[in-house]
Amino acid sequence: MSSSNNQGFNLLRIRAIRAIIVWSWFPYIIQILMLLVFTALAVNGWGRFAPEGVNDKLYAKTNITNLLIWGLWWPSMVWTAVLFGRAWCMICPLELIANGTERLGRKLRIRQFILNKWLRSGWLILVIYAMIQLFVAGAHLHRVPSYTSIFLWSLLGMAGLVGFFFKDRAFCRGFCPVGLLLSSYGRGGMLAVRAGANQVCSDCTGKDCIMACNRTKLYGRSCPSLLNPPKLNSNRDCLVCGQCIKSCNPDNMQLVLRHPFHPSDMRESFTSWPITLFILMVSGFVTGELCSEWKAAQHIFLWLPEHFAVSTGLSSIGGWIEGVWMIGIYPIMLWLLLGAISFCKNRDTSVIGNWRFLALPLVVIVSAGHMAKGLAKFVSWTGFLPGAIKDPSGVNTILGISSKVIPIPASLLSLSVVSFVGMALVIAGMYFAYREAKLANPEKYHKIRAPVLLLGILFIVIISGWR
Ligand code: SF4
Ligand code: SF4
Ligand code: SF4
Repeated sequence: MSSSNNQGFNLLRIRAIRAIIVWSWFPYIIQILMLLVFTALAVNGWGRFAPEGVNDKLYAKTNITNLLIWGLWWPSMVWTAVLFGRAWCMICPLELIANGTERLGRKLRIRQFILNKWLRSGWLILVIYAMIQLFVAGAHLHRVPSYTSIFLWSLLGMAGLVGFFFKDRAFCRGFCPVGLLLSSYGRGGMLAVRAGANQVCSDCTGKDCIMACNRTKLYGRSCPSLLNPPKLNSNRDCLVCGQCIKSCNPDNMQLVLRHPFHPSDMRESFTSWPITLFILMVSGFVTGELCSEWKAAQHIFLWLPEHFAVSTGLSSIGGWIEGVWMIGIYPIMLWLLLGAISFCKNRDTSVIGNWRFLALPLVVIVSAGHMAKGLAKFVSWTGFLPGAIKDPSGVNTILGISSKVIPIPASLLSLSVVSFVGMALVIAGMYFAYREAKLANPEKYHKIRAPVLLLGILFIVIISGWR
């Protein structure tokens, strides 16, 4: 079957997929189901800590709230973003809450604000994401069901409040903690909403996909994210919600499946500071996560913050110090090196200015490393799922495991196999990072060669030690 504009295969040609996407209850019904799951998990985790004398890392795997959120959903979201762009956003319950309260606020004639430039550019998301990572390192947010529950309630509450007081899908555009992760990891995703023939859009008189009067409809809204669907050429901000597909009377919007990092997409040769700093921060986090699967690498990675904590008598807040190291000090050092290498090749921009040039190509390698770690986590946590379904609190399971009555579930794959897959992912990431730089900046892409090699080899060396 052919495709318009050579962008890939239009999935709407498959009758069943078209029926689902244009169905008036889609994606609301799935969002409602996801909301029920989120709420049930938040209730299950509320007030629950590891029983006395039990390893909290192991307990996290037996409690269904922690298991599903951090062990299965989070890694799956990373994989989904890289492979299929912002597909998760299509069924996200937070968007449903924000959508609902935005409508409620409008009905009650509350004065609703529009996002200012600062919020739109992602600075607040950067701060929220950094805080979450600090809480993971310092308070073990990801190991304590009670904290995970507070995290989920906070997300739901924040989505509701922001929706109530702001217009135009503001929560997704300026507040969602994973917004920058999805928009930077998902750019090369194989699923994309794109307009078909340009001529059809030029001749279209209704422009229902853009018209402001359609924005508050329930079905066939003009883009709630204020994008311009006929000109869509990036996965960065599109939530794949399908509203523009429903609204388009000439039936010219497509849901395209194409190969990764499709060349027809727009590339930025220099990205914004919030995105650059987010990528810098997440590169530190991913390095730390990769090291956590290999004791020797972890020992080297954490040597400095651990010694600092001991020598200053701050061991009681050692986790927080490690967090600052992982998402702050270490990545700044790493990126000073990457920026300096790039600067040697081309002195048009300063070492730090080069970060904005390197960020988007290098995030492809960072996301590949994140996928590798996500896979390691997913396969080692999944075996706990049957036990967690039978005993959602996880208390009986962990007590059984501690007293050796219940065996520890085996991993789905050996770590050596995961290591092999992880290295292959990073090598593929290096290839695409280089290609992205070339497509974004054909004159200067050679500057990226050494940083790509350095970051890729660093990740490969760490992953090669997983046994
Ligand atoms: S941006 Fe965040 S809140 Fe909005 S749909 Fe995506 S994941 Fe959900
Ligand atoms: S409604 Fe359809 S045809 Fe008209 S401008 Fe929008 S995408 Fe193009
Ligand atoms: S462009 Fe279409 S699919 Fe993307 S966010 Fe806007 S309405 Fe939803």
